[in-house]
Amino acid sequence: MKANCWMGKQKVEVRDVPDPQILNSGDAIVRITSTAICGSDLHLYNGYVKPMKKGDILGHEFMGEVVEVGSGVRTLKVGDRVVVPFTIACGACWQCRHQNWSLCENSNPNVALAEKMLGHSGSAGFGYSHLTGGFAGGQAEYARVPFADVGPLKIENGFSDEQVLFLSDILPTGHMGAEMCDIRPGDTVAVWGCGPVGLFAIMSARLLGAERVIAIDRFEYRLEMARQCGAETLNYETVDSVSDAVIELTAGRGPDSCIDAVGLEAHGDGLEYAVDKAKQALKIENDRPIALRQAITACRNGGTVSVIGVYGGLVDALPMGTVMNRSLTIKSGQCHVHRYMRPLLEHIENGDIDPTVVITHRMKLSDAPRGYDIFLNKQDGCEKVVLST
Ligand SMILES: [Zn+2]
Ligand SMILES: [Zn+2]
Repeated sequence: MKANCWMGKQKVEVRDVPDPQILNSGDAIVRITSTAICGSDLHLYNGYVKPMKKGDILGHEFMGEVVEVGSGVRTLKVGDRVVVPFTIACGACWQCRHQNWSLCENSNPNVALAEKMLGHSGSAGFGYSHLTGGFAGGQAEYARVPFADVGPLKIENGFSDEQVLFLSDILPTGHMGAEMCDIRPGDTVAVWGCGPVGLFAIMSARLLGAERVIAIDRFEYRLEMARQCGAETLNYETVDSVSDAVIELTAGRGPDSCIDAVGLEAHGDGLEYAVDKAKQALKIENDRPIALRQAITACRNGGTVSVIGVYGGLVDALPMGTVMNRSLTIKSGQCHVHRYMRPLLEHIENGDIDPTVVITHRMKLSDAPRGYDIFLNKQDGCEKVVLST
């Protein structure tokens, strides 16, 4: 089959690789019809999330048709159309029983590596480095899906791939980011980053009752999309201090909650950005937490900072004194996708959310390298690339 493979820093290649096989009785093989490139794929592409091996198949947002099931699979059959959550979860361990699907204790075969880097391991995931198990991803013609009775969501309403594909990651991730804010009527929520996850966080914050959403980015086309989703916008390149500008927009109090939908490759102006870039180059800091620092500083006393942007390792100059003295709550996590797929499918069916609005580019799987390039460089108004096989 054809698959998009990581071949080194900023190098991906669509290559011929062996078809996946059923390895365990709970596996299914899915023939992929649609897949997408995610902002978090860029962290792999740019070499910030390790370890990767040459030839690893990328992609964790995919859907398609079941073409084979293992002998133990009960709920899926050949011909079923499914969206696959990016996290791989067993459904039986302590964390899965507590609905913390991205923390499954059974799915990651590389626990020792994750424990060394993170203290404990999270769940496995598709196409997301050997830290999360080294599972082949879904930017491919086929994928092996472990625990097939637990993760995949059957699509039986006749909706198009584009309407439901993002249930695999970015829609639940944006939604969890808003949900972690415990939004109350009248609340103001600020969202750093107007990529697809940021846009879904904006839509979800509105859906959950936020009165105002303030969206922060530097690209006008992304800010325009945020306005279409119901946000007020702030182009951070037009202000000296992002935190001050956000505090000013909220009459001096600060937003009730702040969502970091940017993560470890944040950009910024001036000295702070230069220092973080230099530390990354010297390998004394892995992540640039510029958006996170701003979110913490801007948040109102007693507010919540919700972190859904991906971080991989150590950050410097995190304002912990601000967190402690101003009673801030920080919530974070890889999305517990399984929790949100069905309720969000209902929101799509009811017309509350139209996930297709984030799509700007449609390509063939064979064009994946070009897709990575224009997405990374924000060329041609690129917000979200969907690949079809
Ligand atoms: Zn993703
Ligand atoms: Zn589990």
